[in-house]
Amino acid sequence: MTWPPLREELRGVEPYGAPQLDVPVQLNVNENPYGPSLACAADIATAVGRAATTLNRYPDREFVELRTALAAYLSRDTPHGVGAEQVWAANGSNEVMLQLLQAFGGPGRTALSFAPTYSMYPEYARDTVTEWVVGHRESDFSLDLDHARDLVKEQQPSVILLPSPNNPTGTALPLEAVTLLCEAAGDGIVVVDEAYGEFRRSGTPSALELLPRHRNLVVSRTMSKAFALAGGRVGYLAAAPEICDAIRVVRLPYHLSAVTQATALAALRHAPELLGRVDELRAERDATVAWLRAQGLQVADSDANFALFGTFPDRHAVWQGLLDRGVLIRETGPDGWLRVSIGTADEMMAFKQALIEVRTSNE
Ligand SMILES: *Cc1c(COP(=O)(O)O)cnc(C)c1O
Repeated sequence: MTWPPLREELRGVEPYGAPQLDVPVQLNVNENPYGPSLACAADIATAVGRAATTLNRYPDREFVELRTALAAYLSRDTPHGVGAEQVWAANGSNEVMLQLLQAFGGPGRTALSFAPTYSMYPEYARDTVTEWVVGHRESDFSLDLDHARDLVKEQQPSVILLPSPNNPTGTALPLEAVTLLCEAAGDGIVVVDEAYGEFRRSGTPSALELLPRHRNLVVSRTMSKAFALAGGRVGYLAAAPEICDAIRVVRLPYHLSAVTQATALAALRHAPELLGRVDELRAERDATVAWLRAQGLQVADSDANFALFGTFPDRHAVWQGLLDRGVLIRETGPDGWLRVSIGTADEMMAFKQALIEVRTSNE
């Protein structure tokens, strides 16, 4: 027996993670380039300071105050409103979705998505011993609804994971697609992962609107992207109260620390300021997409804070050339494509300049 006695399927597997390199222009993990203001940081510090005086006690296991604040925030995206009993939160939406797989996946059950899709999903499936099945997307990265419906009927997955806007392509799902999948799924859970929801173009609706119509629909969100709180580790979902109750069975006791709850509540009080930068980033995204197209490149339509562009016969050489010039982007997506996160105007200037140089020197 080899040491340590790791599960067979985990042997030799590399831990997931983009390279964390200390370079001047970091456009590789879709972070918000604008940190919290001094006023927001001070408010977070005060809230955490207050929480610090009570750290001998376990935190509120049901985080009622935070669920109420998140519900109020989500209610802005749907005419039906969202109640606190429909909200759940954890340490990043990655933990939220792992909990969903722990509750609704497992041996003998299947989780399904459509590639290209978020690279963490197959890991949740592996870690919960859930079978993993992927369908395909069209060449413009939209869903072929007939294919999607047929695959769902055939596989009868207990969980379907749909990022919208999709990572790594930026493609948002029309509400008709969500409805069709919720209906095809029967009693299976349909998770629409709206990690990038706040960046969607105007006119693109949120799946939150459909919650009253489908009891099997879960909409997942995060404070890591638009909210500029990736370091705080807070993700959440909205769903039927029965789904939130089911997750309470599998969550670890007191999984959301008092420090995390205080941080998230303080950040939510500054929502207008933190989200104020989102419009700027959306405009920068649209300009970046247009610029890349003007360079003769293919670019996927994006509703997120990144753009997938290509194609390059040797994408690694382009990625490396950019890195040599101090610009870190992400080598991900289908063969030949690269993904760049949207940074500040200065960072995007540096990216464009470096890309022009790399393409000239590779000719
Ligand atoms: C970034 C991202 C998340 C958010 O992860 P957190 O754990 O909340 O930081 C979720 N889903 C997708 C598709 C993402 O790209």
